[in-house]
Amino acid sequence: MKNIRNFCIIAHIDHGKSTLADRLLEYTNTIQVTSGQMLDDMDLEKERGITIKSHAIQMEYNYKDEKYILNLIDTPGHVDFSYEVSRSIAACEGALLIVDASQGVQAQTISNLYMAIEHDLEIIPVINKCDMASAMPEEVEDEIVELLGCKREEIIRASGKTGMGVEEILAAVIERIPHPVGDEEAPLQALIFDSVFNSFRGIIAYFKIENGVIRKGDKVKFFNTGKEYDADEVGVLKMELVPRNELRTGDVGYIISGIKTSKEVKVGDTITHVARPCAQAIAGFEEVKPMVFAGVYPIEAEDFEDLRASLEKLQLNDASLTFQPESSLALGFGFRCGFLGLLHMEIVQERLDREFDMNVITTVPNVSYNIYDKQGEMKEVHNPGGMPDPTLIDHIEEPYIKASIITTTDYIGPIMTLCLGKRGELLKQEYISGNRVEIFYNMPLGEIVIDFYDRLKSISKGYASFDYHPNGFRPSKLVKLDIMLNGEPVDALSTLIHFDNAYDMGRRMCEKLKELIPRQQFEIAIQAAIGAKIIARETIKAVRKDVTAKCYGGDVSRKRKLLEKQKRGKKRMKQIGNVEVPQKAFLAVLKLD
Ligand code: GDP
Ligand code: MG
Repeated sequence: MKNIRNFCIIAHIDHGKSTLADRLLEYTNTIQVTSGQMLDDMDLEKERGITIKSHAIQMEYNYKDEKYILNLIDTPGHVDFSYEVSRSIAACEGALLIVDASQGVQAQTISNLYMAIEHDLEIIPVINKCDMASAMPEEVEDEIVELLGCKREEIIRASGKTGMGVEEILAAVIERIPHPVGDEEAPLQALIFDSVFNSFRGIIAYFKIENGVIRKGDKVKFFNTGKEYDADEVGVLKMELVPRNELRTGDVGYIISGIKTSKEVKVGDTITHVARPCAQAIAGFEEVKPMVFAGVYPIEAEDFEDLRASLEKLQLNDASLTFQPESSLALGFGFRCGFLGLLHMEIVQERLDREFDMNVITTVPNVSYNIYDKQGEMKEVHNPGGMPDPTLIDHIEEPYIKASIITTTDYIGPIMTLCLGKRGELLKQEYISGNRVEIFYNMPLGEIVIDFYDRLKSISKGYASFDYHPNGFRPSKLVKLDIMLNGEPVDALSTLIHFDNAYDMGRRMCEKLKELIPRQQFEIAIQAAIGAKIIARETIKAVRKDVTAKCYGGDVSRKRKLLEKQKRGKKRMKQIGNVEVPQKAFLAVLKLD
């Protein structure tokens, strides 16, 4: 235990976490980059479904004539996964806090740091990318001193590109981070901080032992799920899985035990022995709850079952993804998926495409609402389509977030205007250093899921970073805005929005749809309505486009061919009532100017 160090690397995105991790692995000879084998190995890892580096990897390092085991536990790194980040952090005793020398402290630097501090980790501040011409290490040092209250000498200057500072970082990990503590004689208590699905081995859970010892073949129990397993294989994580007969207190390792679905493995759960269980689980276990929901539909209706199979596989290593079948009159059969946040949603969509070759349409994301009826009963609604009749509703609550935005003084004005438009409520404003400032807002989550992030980036020319945390539910004057095409409501176009924005939104939706829906052989009325009240209307004029007219009625087979061709041309459309709607119209709400 004395010669073990468990640590993680925390940073704002793109500040060089992965690059620096590679240098550490290289320097400790955990991976050989020069031999050109690393890439092959990595491909193999990928084929096996393990991306070791993204979870945990063990390094061996000789320092002052002693051998040390350094476990680098990677954190998921996105705001959306902050719960999982917090469990990874809980498995460590220390953290490298990486700050980009040209960017300085950013929103996720701070939120990850706070999480590390909450878990009492020893923080080693590192200024990375010091090789860059635009590096401002002095200024960044000021920011870090301000943030941590540390001494300047404690900050290490490094570069993941040149390898500068790597040796110093390893020395600091050993010298400054405390070794794990725990009782080897006590009942087994191991914290699950991550899990992956491997197509050959099944589910692999990663854990850190807080107390006790685990041996191959042990009968173990997962505390919170109550499920029992045989520890078929336990071991440590190097470039590949290295089986061991036993792992002891302070060790980080993996277990393979015939777990079938990722739902059985909950990040944050405790592994113990069936015969001699620990008295209680490791504190802090929480079920993660999805925050953002969207319909995910196959482009081709016949791919529905394939989509289900793909989502099931994805869920095997992403337990935070939820889905249930739903059907939409407009889009057919699909799934309502729950995500931790927008980034998570994008990643899932990307993975469906890349790993499963599934082309999907994602409907407008929305959040979860608490709807109270007149009897005081609460119902959670994840889909505008699931809204009860408005006359039965007493009031609705929507989720709020506490947002933190870091920017330079130049952009405060436009950012405040943007936040105000999103019903944000300014909480406070703090100077970080020089002309950089952190602004806090209380905002409805529903307002940021639509186009907040992109707009923030564009109005700040990229000089704003953003982070958020859930901040409870609040009553809100929400209404369901329906869209009708020739009198027929189109469920996939409904949105829940604040009453004050409803008229404007209804008008803009109608205008946008008029642009996106092609003219057809009859007139199409586009209407926006709240309940029975029509609040906006546009009309698409009819066009005569009878392709068979050219055939003079004579040649039947030619006429049929033309009709077939016309039908194929329409495949990317959805028929709603008698109106054909192109797919891009379903995302119209995201494209309002
Ligand atoms: P992460 O998101 O924190 O994991 O960041 P990455 O390690 O993926 O790095 C983000 C980008 O910065 C990549 O394009 C890297 O090549 C680059 N980068 C990382 N470290 C350095 C460094 O020390 N110097 C320079 N010049 N570029 C770096
Ligand atoms: Mg990375």
